[in-house]
Amino acid sequence: MKLKYVCLIIVILSTFSVKAQLLQDKEKFTHQDTLRGSITPERAWWDLTYYHLDIEVKPELKFISGKNTIYYKVVSEPNEFMQIDLQQPMEITKAIQDGKELEVQVEGNANFLLIPTKQNIGDIKSIEIHYNGYPREAKRAPWDGGFSWKKDQNGKHFIATSCQGLGASLWWPNKDHMYDEVDSMLISVTNPKGLTNVSNGRLRKLVENNNNTVTSHWFVSNPINNYGVNVNIGDYTNFSEVFKGEKGDLDMDYWVLKDNLERAITHFKDAPKMMKAFEHWFGPYPFYEDSFKLVEVPYLGMEHQSSVTYGNQYKQGYLGRDLSGTGWGLKFDFIIIHEAGHEWFANNITNKDIADMWIHEGFTSYSENLFLDYYYGKEASADYVIGTRANIQNDKPLIGTYNVNNEGSSDMYYKGANMLHTLRQLIEDDEKWRQILRGLNSEFYHQTVTTKQIEDYLSEQSGIDLTAFFNQYLRTTKIPTLEYEIKAGELKYRWTDIVEGFDMPLKVVIGNEEQWIYPKAEWKSLMTKSSKMSLIIDRNFYVNSKEL
Ligand SMILES: [Zn+2]
Repeated sequence: MKLKYVCLIIVILSTFSVKAQLLQDKEKFTHQDTLRGSITPERAWWDLTYYHLDIEVKPELKFISGKNTIYYKVVSEPNEFMQIDLQQPMEITKAIQDGKELEVQVEGNANFLLIPTKQNIGDIKSIEIHYNGYPREAKRAPWDGGFSWKKDQNGKHFIATSCQGLGASLWWPNKDHMYDEVDSMLISVTNPKGLTNVSNGRLRKLVENNNNTVTSHWFVSNPINNYGVNVNIGDYTNFSEVFKGEKGDLDMDYWVLKDNLERAITHFKDAPKMMKAFEHWFGPYPFYEDSFKLVEVPYLGMEHQSSVTYGNQYKQGYLGRDLSGTGWGLKFDFIIIHEAGHEWFANNITNKDIADMWIHEGFTSYSENLFLDYYYGKEASADYVIGTRANIQNDKPLIGTYNVNNEGSSDMYYKGANMLHTLRQLIEDDEKWRQILRGLNSEFYHQTVTTKQIEDYLSEQSGIDLTAFFNQYLRTTKIPTLEYEIKAGELKYRWTDIVEGFDMPLKVVIGNEEQWIYPKAEWKSLMTKSSKMSLIIDRNFYVNSKEL
C-alpha cells in the first residue's frame, strides 16, 4: 500500500528550504537504523522456520500480552547472541530456551539474547519470547501504522494492525528484516467474546474460554513476510465463494462488519474479476492453500498476505477519486485491485531489503492498468498508466539506501509503473511480456529477492540488455530527453539527461510514418521523405522531448 505522494505533496507545498531540510534529515541514519535494516551477525546465523504468535488483545486497556515461539535452523557458526526485535514501549518479559531463562540485553528496539548452550549447524531449535505492553497506536494508518483502536457505528470495538515500513516488531517480537521469511506460522489471538479476530491463512480452531474471551487460531502454511501478519478484530460476519482458478478451486472469503454485508456482497464482485485478470497476467494466485480473503478494517487498506485488508468505503477508485485523471480509475475499486495485486508482487516475490520496495509498488501499480487491459483493452490501460504520470515527483531515485530500512522515493509507484509500461513497448510482443511477468512469479516463487535478480531476469528473458535502462529509471531522477531538430528534410536527434550507455530505441511518427529510431548520446541524423516536418514520440514511452 502506502501512496505516500499524498504526504509528499504537502512537503512540496511547504517552502523549498523545509523540503530540503526534510530530505537532508532523512539521509541521517542511526545505529538503530543499521540494527533494524541490516543482516547483523546476530541475525545471520539462524534461519526462521516457524512462528507461533499467541497473544491476548485487551481493547479496553489498549494492551496486548503473550508470547512468540520462534523455531529456527542454525545455518552457520552461531554468534554468542541472537537479535530479536521488539519496539519500545513493548517489552520482552522473559526469553526461554530448553527450559532456561536467557539473559536479554536491550539496545533500543533490538534485544540481544545471550545463547548459553552450544548450537550446531543444522540444529532446529526454538525459543519462547514472552512480552507485553501498550503497542504504538497508529497515527495515520496504514502509513504511520500501529494498532488502530476504533469503534464501529454501533459502538463496538473495531481493531486492526498495520506496520509496513515501521515493522512488525512494533507489536510482536520477531526477526524484523525482510530477507528471512518464516516458512509457516500459527497466529493465536484471544479477544473479548462477541468480537471476531481475522488473521492470515485459514481458521483452524475457535475456542471459547471461560473468562468471557475467545481464542482464534489461524494457520498460514506458506512463507510470509512479517509486515503481512495481521490482527483484525471486529463485529464481523462473512460470506464466501469458490473461484475456479488456474490451480483449481480457490476459497475466497470476505469478512465485513455486519451492517455492511449487503453492500459488500455487491461491491466485492471486483474480487473474482481481479483474480481472473491477475492469474492471466501473473500466473496462479500464490497462496491457494491459505485461501484469499478481503477483511474490512478501519483504515484504507494493506496487502496483508491472504487477508488483504479493505477500507475503501465501498467506493470506486481511491476513496472515490481517480488517480489517473482519465476516468478509467473509476472502473474499479482501487484497494481491491491494488492490494490484491501485491499478492504476486510483495507477498509472493518479496524484496530482501526495503530499499528495493519498487519491486512491490512498481509492479503492483502497474497491475492496475493490466486489470484495465484485461477488461477494457490496451488503449484504456495505456490511458490510465500514462495519466498516473501526473503523480510523479522525480524527487529521489526509486531505490533507497540499503541496510538501514530506508525506502526509495514514492515515485516507486507510478514512475515504476511507467517504467514497466515503457519496457512493454521495447519488448513489442504482448504475449512474450505476459510470459515474462508470469515467469517472474514462478522463478521467484515464495522468495525474497534483490533488484539485481529482477533486472537480470528481465534482461535475460527479453533478450535486451536493460542495464542502462534500469540504471536510468531506478537509480536517478533524470528522465531521458530526446533533443531533436528537423531542418531541410533532415532529422537530427540525440538523448540527453541520460546515464552512461543509455541508448533506448524509441517509437516515433515522422510525418505520417511510424518507425523506430535509435538515439544515443551522440547526435544522429536521418533524412525524411515526408513533406510534413514533424516528429511525434509514441506516448507510451516515459521520456521527455525538446525540439531545438
Ligand atoms: Zn501498494
